Amino acid sequence: MNVLFVTAEAAPLIKVGGLGDVAGSLPKALRQRGHDVRLILPQYGSINVAAVGATVIRPAVPVRFGERTLVVDLLVGALPGSDIPLYLLRCPEFFGSGGVYYEQTGPDARRHEVQRFVFFSLAVSQVFFQLGWQPDIVHCHDWHTALVPSLLRTWSPRHTRLATVLTIHNLQNQGQWPRPDILSWVGPPPLHHPAFPVQPPDQIFNCLREGIYAAATVNTVSPTYAQEIIRPELGDGLDGPLRQRLGGVVGILNGLDVEAFNPATDKRLVAPYTVDSVPSGKSANKAALQHEVGLPVDQKKLLIGVVSRLTEQKGLDLLRSSAAECGKLNIQIVILGTGQPEIEQALQDMMTAYPQSMVLMKKFDAVLAQHIYGGADAFLMPSRFEPCGLGQMVAMRYGALPIVRDTGGLHDTVVDLSTDPAHGNGFVFRAASPDALLACLGRAVQLWHQPLQWQQAVQRAMRQDFSWTASAASYERLYAEAIAKNPAA
Ligand code: ADP
Repeated sequence: MNVLFVTAEAAPLIKVGGLGDVAGSLPKALRQRGHDVRLILPQYGSINVAAVGATVIRPAVPVRFGERTLVVDLLVGALPGSDIPLYLLRCPEFFGSGGVYYEQTGPDARRHEVQRFVFFSLAVSQVFFQLGWQPDIVHCHDWHTALVPSLLRTWSPRHTRLATVLTIHNLQNQGQWPRPDILSWVGPPPLHHPAFPVQPPDQIFNCLREGIYAAATVNTVSPTYAQEIIRPELGDGLDGPLRQRLGGVVGILNGLDVEAFNPATDKRLVAPYTVDSVPSGKSANKAALQHEVGLPVDQKKLLIGVVSRLTEQKGLDLLRSSAAECGKLNIQIVILGTGQPEIEQALQDMMTAYPQSMVLMKKFDAVLAQHIYGGADAFLMPSRFEPCGLGQMVAMRYGALPIVRDTGGLHDTVVDLSTDPAHGNGFVFRAASPDALLACLGRAVQLWHQPLQWQQAVQRAMRQDFSWTASAASYERLYAEAIAKNPAA
C-alpha cells in the first residue's frame, strides 16, 4: 500500500509529544512490512532543511486561501535516520516563525495556530497532485490535519482511489474557532460533507469533528481510550459523533521505536545496559542523574522520574497537594517538563520547600529525558486521562517501574504489582486524588525495600515487547477497511 502521513510532528525531526514519536516510528514499521509510506509536514522555521537533505521539487505552487492565492514550495528529503521520503511545505508566512504550536496563551496565539493548520490542510489538498506519487491512503493525525479528508474531497471530487484515516491522539484538542473565520480562510467551494449535519448549529467550528465525520475510518491510540471517548465523561463533547460512526472507533496501542529507545545502545546514557546488567547500569546512570540535576547522590533512596507536559491532563498537581506527605516518604523526585504556568509554579514551590529531595527542570530536553529514563528507579504518570502514553513504555524499557493512574493506555500497559505480583510491572491507582497517589507512592517505597522483588519486576518490565510489530499489522487492517469503505475504490 502507498500511505501518506499528514502530520504536525514527526520525531526526530520535530517533536512536542507522543504524536511526534508515533509519526516518526509507525512509518518505519510499516515500511519494514513492505509499504511505501511517506510523510508531509510544514517546513517550520526550526527545521534544518540541510539535515533532511531536502530539495525543492515544485517551486511556487499556488494555494487558494480564502480570497487570496499564496504560493508554497514543495520540497522532498528523508526523515532523519531512515529512507522514508519526507515532503515539506514551505510558506514562511504561516510556518516560518515559532515552534509547532504557539506557546503563548490567549486568543491571538490560538488564532495563529488554527489558521496555520487550516492553511496546511488546504495546502496539502491543493499540492496533492504535484507529489508525483499516488497514495492509496491519506493518514491524518489529530485536529491539525482533520480537515484534510473533507478538503481533499472538495479539491479533488473526481479523485477515486483515495481512502482517508484519522487517528485521534488526544481528543481534548479539537481545533475550535469561530466559524466565520474558518469559512473565510477555507473559502469557496464550501466546506461541507453532505451525509451529516457537519457542524453544530453554533458559531464555533470544530476541525476534529469535521474529520470524525469525513474520514473513512477513525481510530485512537489504545483500546481503553477508544472505550472511554465514546462516553460523555471523557468524550469532550464528541462522544456523540464518535458513537455514530459506522464500525466504531478502533483502539490500536502505540508502539515504540525500539531502536531509538534502547538502553543497550543509547549513547546518551553514561552506562548503557541490558536486562542482565540492569542493576549496575541503573546505579551508574542514577548517580550521574542525581549529580546532573543537583540532588544528593544516594543509591538507597527511591528516585522517581517525570518527563511530561505540565498540563492538567497529566495530573502532576496531585503531587503538589500531598507535598508535605511526599516529603516524609524519603524519596527523590526529578521532574522534566513545561506547561501551564500555574502548574509549573505549584511544582516549583514544592521543589523550593524540599530542595534535598525534589527538583523541577523547566525545559524540553530530549537528552535529559533519556538520562531520567535511564537513571530513575520509577516513573510517575498520574494522568487524569491518557490516550496511550509513551512515557510509561519508554520507562519500562529502561527498567524504571511506572507509577500510573488507571486510565486509557496506562490501563492497557501497566499491571499493578500489589494485585498481581507474579505479572506486575508497575503501580496503579484508581482515584484522581492526592491521597490515592500518595498511597500508591507508599506501595512503591515498600517494594523498593524488597530488592529481590523489585529487581524481578524491573526485568519483567524490560522484557516486554513494546515494538510496533502487532500494532503495525492492526494499522494494515484499518487501511484495508478504509479502502473497502471508499465507495469509489
Ligand atoms: P503526550 O503526547 O500527551 O505529551 P506521551 O507520554 O504520549 O504524552 O509522550 C510524551 C513524549 O514526549 C515522550 O516521548 C516524552 O519523553 C516526551 N517529552 C515530554 N516532555 C518532555 C520534555 N520536557 N523534554 C523532553 N521530552 C519530553
